[in-house]
Amino acid sequence: MSLCKNGFYGEFGGRFVPPELDGVLEEVKEAFEKYRNDPEFMAELKYYHQQYVGRPNPLYFAEKLTNKAGGAKIYLKREDLNHTGAHKINNTLGQVLLAKRLGKKRVIAETGAGQHGVATATACALFDMECIVYMGEMDIERQRLNVFRMELLGAKVISVTDGLKTLKEAVDAALNDLIENYKTTYYMLGSAVGPDPYPAMVKAFQSVIGMEVREQMQKAEGSLPDYLVACVGGGSNAIGLFSPFYEDKDVKMIGVEPAGKGLVPGMHAASLTLGRPGIIHGFKCYVLLDEADEIMPVHSISAGLDYPGVGPEHSFYKDSGRAEYVTITDAEALDAFFELSKVEGIIPALESAHAVAYAIKLAGELPPDKKIVVNLSGRGDKDVAQVCDMMAKQQV
Ligand SMILES: *Cc1c(COP(=O)(O)O)cnc(C)c1O
Repeated sequence: MSLCKNGFYGEFGGRFVPPELDGVLEEVKEAFEKYRNDPEFMAELKYYHQQYVGRPNPLYFAEKLTNKAGGAKIYLKREDLNHTGAHKINNTLGQVLLAKRLGKKRVIAETGAGQHGVATATACALFDMECIVYMGEMDIERQRLNVFRMELLGAKVISVTDGLKTLKEAVDAALNDLIENYKTTYYMLGSAVGPDPYPAMVKAFQSVIGMEVREQMQKAEGSLPDYLVACVGGGSNAIGLFSPFYEDKDVKMIGVEPAGKGLVPGMHAASLTLGRPGIIHGFKCYVLLDEADEIMPVHSISAGLDYPGVGPEHSFYKDSGRAEYVTITDAEALDAFFELSKVEGIIPALESAHAVAYAIKLAGELPPDKKIVVNLSGRGDKDVAQVCDMMAKQQV
């Protein structure tokens, strides 16, 4: 059964783009629909997921964290152990294989903090693709190391100097490039957002996470998990974990949004919690809008979560009640960052620390026979300099 009809999940999703882009996206959609059912394509993707990314990664029983939380068992899905350190590579490898099938030699991408840019540059290096990454000038300054990583991998990073010089403008620049160069160019989108078919495609490539968890949990406990917990930026790691359990009504799904410095305008990026239906970057979803319907500025301690929109499928899950969405503040995420490092010897990405923080609270309220799976979407190596800096300035 497919929830998605003509690119819509209920009222959300769709393709709100200029006519020039519509044809290009239709071509991508047709190719995706064809190859997702092609055993040879799926076997090639599986080969790279296993041999290059290192899948399947473990579903680790965090016994010490469980004991400290004092309730339900906490399992961690170790996406942090993937090559390049996060779940994003699952998707970029899928899309680069599709670009190859489409005969494209040039790949473009947008990036905010640089994580998707690095995952794209990695996939392009492996498949000999020219790689161009659009990045806001502000983000380039803040994320110098990721810019250097992308360049090491052979990508060209183009500085975007329009508007606020951040992710939103980088997406606009990438879309303009695509309109001009669609004959040779493939646009690689980094989360389960954007116009149809990207949300469905990114979900398909990330659902390997939930499919592995199903098998691993059956093996470890002989049953399905009771709760799935994942952080939500655009929503790709969460939908990758959740979607294979959609029909299992006893499995509760909880998406964790960034409450930043508090749930007041400009201080958070909790699109599902405080947004309303609107259009951003060519699709409909919950968006953080002000009274004049302008997109609001957002904040989160973790650069990977500060997007004012969210995936259309999550917007639909929220309305239907299939998933619940909660928030965790910067300070709570930081506490969990320290806690998981000390207790389990695992330094989580600040994004993932939001999910860990909520899971610790939840576990404490549940009896010991319940099982929670937390998606550890990435490792925290990329964040240690930032946290160290904040400590030196006594902001922690
Ligand atoms: C990019 C990123 C996220 C947020 O993106 P989603 O599409 O919501 O998954 C979460 N965790 C890590 C480690 C990331 O790099």
